Amino acid sequence: MAGSITLTMIKPLAVQKGFTGPILAKIAEGGFKIIAMKYTRLSVNQARKFYEVHKDRPFYDSLVNSMTSGPIVAAILEKENAVQAWRDYIGATNPANAAPGTIRALYGTSLEANAVHGSDSDENAIIEGDFFFSKMERF
Ligand code: ADP
Ligand code: MG
Repeated sequence: MAGSITLTMIKPLAVQKGFTGPILAKIAEGGFKIIAMKYTRLSVNQARKFYEVHKDRPFYDSLVNSMTSGPIVAAILEKENAVQAWRDYIGATNPANAAPGTIRALYGTSLEANAVHGSDSDENAIIEGDFFFSKMERF
């Protein structure tokens, strides 16, 4: 039975630090199926669009800057209750508060450079999946 989907990104600093492989291993270990995946780099306009909901927050420009600082890995993950399952699995937004063993606790550097993204609702998971992937890039 197919589960629901969520969208993740391995953020630039985590890629730069060599954590792509370990994070992909954790994805598999957590029982998430990779439906689509790509190695890419966000333009400033793409990052501003992706994080538009945060445009009035004080950290917006800094977040856009860090998210465009290098390549990312974007992926659609499938699992039952994928959005919440993935958020539980990666841990709290601030790695300092993330539960031991979670991806953000293991591989996050700071509140901003917290290793990975996770969608916050089924609706946004679909919007974010469509942001990165066409139908023929999904399996
Ligand atoms: P999450 O990624 O856990 O859903 P948010 O949607 O609140 O968290 O924030 C989006 C991203 O913005 C976070 O993953 C993090 O990279 C960054 N961020 C959030 N809050 C702050 C903050 N106070 N200072 C700097 N960066 C932040
Ligand atoms: Mg969020």
